[in-house]
Amino acid sequence: MYRTHTCGELRSAQAGLTVTLAGWVQTVRKLSKSITFIDLRDRYGITQLLFGEELSQQLTENPLGREFVIQVQGEVTERTSKNAQLPTGDIEIKVSSYTILNKSMTPPFTIQDDTDGGDDLRMKYRYLDLRRQTVKKNLELRYAVNRAARNYLHENSFMDLETPFLIKSTPEGARDFVVPSRMNPGEFYALPQSPQTFKQLLMVSGYDRYYQIVKCFRDEDLRADRQPEFTQIDCEMSFVEQEDILSMFEGLIKYIFNTVKGIDYTDHVERMTWEEVMWNYGNDKPDIRFGMKLLNLKSAFTLGGKLTAHGELIKDAGFGVFDNAETVLAIAAPGCSEYTRKQTDELTEWVKRPQIGMQGLVYIKCNADGSLKSSVDKFYSEDKLKAIAEAVEAKKGDLILVLAGREERTRKAMSELRLEMGRRLGLRKENEFKLLWVLDFPLFEYAEEENRWVARHHPFTSPKPSDIGVMIENSPVIAEAEKYLEHPYNHIKANAYDMVLNGNEIGGGSLRLYQRELQEKMFAALGMTPEEALHKFGFLLGAFEYGAPPHGGIAFGFDRLCSILGGSESIRDFIAFPKNNSGRDVMLDAPSTIDDKQLLELSIQLNTSGRDSL
Ligand code: ASP
Repeated sequence: MYRTHTCGELRSAQAGLTVTLAGWVQTVRKLSKSITFIDLRDRYGITQLLFGEELSQQLTENPLGREFVIQVQGEVTERTSKNAQLPTGDIEIKVSSYTILNKSMTPPFTIQDDTDGGDDLRMKYRYLDLRRQTVKKNLELRYAVNRAARNYLHENSFMDLETPFLIKSTPEGARDFVVPSRMNPGEFYALPQSPQTFKQLLMVSGYDRYYQIVKCFRDEDLRADRQPEFTQIDCEMSFVEQEDILSMFEGLIKYIFNTVKGIDYTDHVERMTWEEVMWNYGNDKPDIRFGMKLLNLKSAFTLGGKLTAHGELIKDAGFGVFDNAETVLAIAAPGCSEYTRKQTDELTEWVKRPQIGMQGLVYIKCNADGSLKSSVDKFYSEDKLKAIAEAVEAKKGDLILVLAGREERTRKAMSELRLEMGRRLGLRKENEFKLLWVLDFPLFEYAEEENRWVARHHPFTSPKPSDIGVMIENSPVIAEAEKYLEHPYNHIKANAYDMVLNGNEIGGGSLRLYQRELQEKMFAALGMTPEEALHKFGFLLGAFEYGAPPHGGIAFGFDRLCSILGGSESIRDFIAFPKNNSGRDVMLDAPSTIDDKQLLELSIQLNTSGRDSL
């Protein structure tokens, strides 16, 4: 028997017991000739070992190094000086004999929470990095989320069904990773970007509640903290309306909160339409742990005429920056009216950074005595400033920040500035979790470079019933590209929903199309000829002719959910073997070239020079 107990298990209640432990040497401290302490570590914790005179002598002759794997026998004894930091800190093992099970080279970095190893080194030796307590905690959390999700879904009659990884390439959205087929020369499989069509086919087959915690592969240009392979909690249900899906899956997330974090999320999960969140927060995944909503003083963005910009507040003042801007947006930062010149200058520099890309920042200080002072006093009387302050619901002591410029850039910039101010003011509290459903997304998005409509979610998403007619009756063709905003397709709403947690999209899904004619219409709207649609999705169109039930689903980004619950910005910390920011596995050194024999077998000839012309 290698061990009778783990290194995290023993307490003073076991004093007097003879035990065998096995694990890794964390530290060796030679106190004197006759006393050596060793901290022994395994997955469950750390136990202090005491080597007496005779064994200490052996250790001097034959030293144990860090990360040696050893087995020890000895007696559990109560410590004289206890360590309250360690669960096993009341005891130590008085070692009577030990065996070296395996030696270790000196590790390239210290296996400790505050390691001296840089990112690259830790990724190269990820198997050592994984021994560190902090990384282990993250993986334990990941497993807890996985288990909670499975329990909840199982209890609700969902069935875990596997779907293939070698499938057909149907690029729509991201690029596919492709896999050459040796047995079918010149032909390729693709790795699934998600099991979307399979889970829909399972609905056609009658498996009315499906789930899978599954890898997805997308060959995208890597943005910070994206992984080319990532994991989804992927779900689909039949005979459901949007409401059924929303309540089932807010139930899932609440269950995970409760089981994993002990949080009893009793708050009602807020719901906002896509239009509302774009208008009020400037992006489709707002952090609603704090207010600071955007005031639209001028906007090129129209929300079906429902919400209109407060244009009259800034007009006719002769201030060119506002007059010439497509959009002018304001927020009120609470309690910041006493910002010094240095601080407002610093904020101005912040919005001018290339990532934000604004030309400048206008501010209005709402002083504690009720007076107002702004950087545009030359153009706006105090009364006019007061009207703006009222509209943005600024209080005495607040600082109003205003950005002006092109529609999309200004909206993005203001949404970033809002988050930044929220962070600086401590309003984005780490232990506060706030869920939000964003509903009624647009069905289409216009891709200017391709001069065609693309599906905002994916081509299997259904329009709102009231918009089906608009899709059927109108041609997708746009005569004048710059007028796409006026095209009826621009106003079609989808039966699509996203779940947002603390400013991150953690899940998204939709009710699906399930009638062949409508699905064909959708493919046509996206610019596919009937032949192309058949070639790419003939299997699905065919299946829809054999009694496809109404269905819908959702997929959650499992890695991201774990990182948020773990209070980290980085999903890599929650993946056992992640890729780096250039999509490389530096431990395996992948991707890598393959030899000529393999290429020959695959009937592949490399043409690296051709790449530049792509
Ligand atoms: N398959 C979709 C995605 O990966 C999610 C869904 O619609 O269920 O985004």
